[in-house]
Amino acid sequence: MTKFTQKELDELNSTINSAQDALKWASDNLHPRIAKASSFGAEDAAITDMMIKVNPEFRFFTLDTGRLPQATYDIMDDVRKKYGIKFEVLFPDTIEVQQMVREKGMNLFYDSVENRKLCCEIRKVHPTNKMLQTLDGWITGLRRDQTSNRNEAKMFEIDTQHDDILKINPIINWTWDQVWDYIKENNVPYNKLLDKGYPSIGCEPCTRAIKDGEDLRAGRWWWENEGHKECGLHIDYKK
Ligand code: SF4
Repeated sequence: MTKFTQKELDELNSTINSAQDALKWASDNLHPRIAKASSFGAEDAAITDMMIKVNPEFRFFTLDTGRLPQATYDIMDDVRKKYGIKFEVLFPDTIEVQQMVREKGMNLFYDSVENRKLCCEIRKVHPTNKMLQTLDGWITGLRRDQTSNRNEAKMFEIDTQHDDILKINPIINWTWDQVWDYIKENNVPYNKLLDKGYPSIGCEPCTRAIKDGEDLRAGRWWWENEGHKECGLHIDYKK
């Protein structure tokens, strides 16, 4: 397993400035022990297009939580056809889901923050952790201005939540407008929910369209307060 020191990452963060250069570095140094995590939002659309242009063999994985909107399955197949990507689709553990819904119900996430985090933990965090144990690095679509938890994030990070593998956030400095400029200029296929007021896309029961003037992530777990708007993939709630 390839591990990096903080000094090496500081060097990368000070010398690599563009998303394309970060992806080229990832391809040269970590492929095939690195993969992109995709939830088929706008950021994922732009990065996927860039990745395929850098290395058509790059790996991609996605989570099928069992609660995704149909539009997300549709774009998954559109992207597969356009780029020839064979997504590694991760599913939650059947026994864990069965026990959870037997004890707490199918719509447990609306009952309490604790239940919502449990559902995200079982349907998202556990399958992702398993996948990341097989990798030396992963690529995300995080942007610094998405949430307050992300405003300190860097392009290259040591992921202390996942056994200190490398986490690369190629568009960490991009704005929402830059993402859309890239999508339009490069004719990139995107999730149709984005045209219906869903700038951040997650599971169907936990995502709603936003209203004019609302924060881009206001539609995620809309019944909870601002401080909870993460699923646990990029923040360790246990700490
Ligand atoms: S987003 Fe909602 S349905 Fe999806 S895993 Fe989290 S709580 Fe469960």
